[in-house]
Amino acid sequence: MDDTFELRGKRVFVAGHRGMVGSAVVRRLADEDCEVLTASRAELDLMDQAGVRRFMAARRPDAVVMAAAKVGGILANDRFPVDFLQDNLVMQTNVIESAFRSDVRKLLFLGSSCIYPKFAPQPIPEDALLTGPLEPTNEWYAVAKIAGLKLCQAYRRQYGVDYISAMPTNLYGPGDNFDLDSSHVVPALMRKAHEAKRRGDKSLAVWGSGKPMREFLHVDDAADALVWLLKNYAGDSHVNVGSGEDITIAELARTVASVVGADVEVTFDPTKPDGTPRKLMDVSRLFATGWRPRYTLRGGLEETYAWFLQHIEEGDVRLGAA
Ligand code: GDP
Repeated sequence: MDDTFELRGKRVFVAGHRGMVGSAVVRRLADEDCEVLTASRAELDLMDQAGVRRFMAARRPDAVVMAAAKVGGILANDRFPVDFLQDNLVMQTNVIESAFRSDVRKLLFLGSSCIYPKFAPQPIPEDALLTGPLEPTNEWYAVAKIAGLKLCQAYRRQYGVDYISAMPTNLYGPGDNFDLDSSHVVPALMRKAHEAKRRGDKSLAVWGSGKPMREFLHVDDAADALVWLLKNYAGDSHVNVGSGEDITIAELARTVASVVGADVEVTFDPTKPDGTPRKLMDVSRLFATGWRPRYTLRGGLEETYAWFLQHIEEGDVRLGAA
């Protein structure tokens, strides 16, 4: 079977185009000879099944990238389990079902590495899915994402449509959330290092022991991989999307401080949680298709910090409550 999907001349609907990943996918699709379709929240409420069906029937995309999701950090997940489970289930089911009803030929569903068991083998292969208990703090989100990838698989098996799923590792980059209460580690450390530099602080406090290891991927690399999969992958299994390399949080903190130009000593705050010790994805399936990331971690951090500096002046960086 020919696994390729020609984007030229196609209309591609990106759901969630205002989010970090969705906006990166829209940027990346600008390089393809295709029409990109987006919808504002006022125009389309993804929670409204009838509205999504009407939108899909009227606009008739050839392909759909489902990058819309209710997302948040560990605290938000813990406090709003209904939102993370129900909103994600409803939105993704509306989009996938309506796409099928409107004869969408190719659909890419986005998940996350938290779908894997808490104690999965490292690096984590795709077939580690559903082999053990989830990390309890984000199981609501994870269960919804697992249901989404299974729904794509079910449509493929029952109706023979080319609906695929990708599971990205920890992403960072332009458009990230820099609100310290809800952000992930890269934007958090970047903001802290930036503020330490401005105040002339001599230390940068890192949560936990600094020993956990994480894999990071620049969001533009992730978007490139997603468009690549859209064009070149037509398999039954979901595909991990990552860089294939991880580093300790302590090393990350030193690299971020150096990129920002903050002359600080990295200190550790053991009262804050470490979380899972390691979650490196096995990216051999993706790499076997020929795709590779372009950014080094340092290069990606430099580009992100340049974005941060430019946009903080314009007042459109997500910083949270002052
Ligand atoms: P996780 O990958 O789901 O654990 O999410 P995070 O990106 O929030 O955290 C990754 C690691 O970075 C954890 O070990 C955190 O304890 C550590 N970390 C160190 N400093 C910070 C910080 O200021 N904010 C966040 N979110 N994590 C931090």
